[in-house]
Amino acid sequence: MISYDEQLLSDLRKVYSDKLGEFLSSLSRPPSRYYVRVNLLRTSREEVRRLLESDGVEVYYDELFEEALWIPVRGPVELEEPKCKVFVDKRTAESVMLGANVYAPGIVKLEKCADVGRKVGIVSTSGVLVAVGIVSPGFREAIRNRRGLVVRTLESLYSVPSLRDTKAYKAGMIYEQSLPSMVVTHVLSPRAGMKIVDMCAAPGGKIGHVYELNKGKGVFIAIDHSSRKITRMKQEFARLGYTSINIIRGDSRYVDLFLGKEVADYVILDPPCSSIGVIPKIYDKRTIDGIKNYADYQRQFLRSAYDLLKPGGILVYSTCTTTYLENEANIEYAVNVLGYEVLEATPIRGSRGVGPLGKYLQRFHPHIHGTPGYFIAKLQKPYK
Ligand code: SAH
Repeated sequence: MISYDEQLLSDLRKVYSDKLGEFLSSLSRPPSRYYVRVNLLRTSREEVRRLLESDGVEVYYDELFEEALWIPVRGPVELEEPKCKVFVDKRTAESVMLGANVYAPGIVKLEKCADVGRKVGIVSTSGVLVAVGIVSPGFREAIRNRRGLVVRTLESLYSVPSLRDTKAYKAGMIYEQSLPSMVVTHVLSPRAGMKIVDMCAAPGGKIGHVYELNKGKGVFIAIDHSSRKITRMKQEFARLGYTSINIIRGDSRYVDLFLGKEVADYVILDPPCSSIGVIPKIYDKRTIDGIKNYADYQRQFLRSAYDLLKPGGILVYSTCTTTYLENEANIEYAVNVLGYEVLEATPIRGSRGVGPLGKYLQRFHPHIHGTPGYFIAKLQKPYK
């Protein structure tokens, strides 16, 4: 159920033209492959495949990236609707749809019939049946304490094996990351020993990937303004065995004020966005005004990144959304107003972008590539 206002639809039509309908309906399906990244600092992909298989997970090697493995996403299956239902919020519904269990914070409403051992339908507040499960023995206590398992999922619309309990995950050998997100690091492909700043870093997937590919050689700075997300990122980096990424809490719109001017060789800029490319979606409701607010916010980071970069320094800009305004239009602004030069965002694993700079840019489309919707651009601050 996608509800975008007419102006947002016409923005998206600049990208999808007569395929807009196909694109919008692809948003309700998950990617066809679930990607994980192998921590090459610790192990090899052969070892990870062996370990995951010993935990019953079917894995394949990516065709190009040595560190990328994928797991097939199963589904959709036809679910038989049980008489009794529990209602969950949007975020919960979107993960239960792939096989996750239901925990107390995600519950919106339980029908009276829901009791220990009862088979229930798990339904989004918008009315979509996403899975069938069994009410857990401790559900009353879980609800009272607002934490703990409420429904164990038996069968979901789609399924991806849960990796958190695998030996490879616990040993810090894998990180769950989509293919387009991994492409960002390959587009950046920084030389070892350089200073690299991720301006919007949490949960840390991209800066971690760069750190691994450069074997920890260089100066790595991960900034985020959310202290909650910084705490989680620290835990993740500990699990993965990263010892020398500097984590800073700060507002990157003013990054040059706390890191200095012309100090970074490379910048990763993956700012907050409207997330239209994040799939599967149960529903989504947005207006052009919301998109414009994001685009304005993103431009502020493009401005401060310009001051942060050394002359000749490289910036990779990425988003998990698909509007023209947050993507191509922002790159046009970066080039025409701020003075960046645009470079080709290669290697290309998706398609080119659109508009006057389209041939330099890279996009991923759910209905074409079976991935989340994504955008990647590579910019350079000119030498003086
Ligand atoms: N690059 C990350 C994902 C980034 S999501 C990865 O690949 O794993 C965007 C992040 O930007 C969020 O974590 C959010 O907390 C952060 N953020 C939002 N506004 C910010 C600001 N003004 N300064 C720094 N970080 C900000």
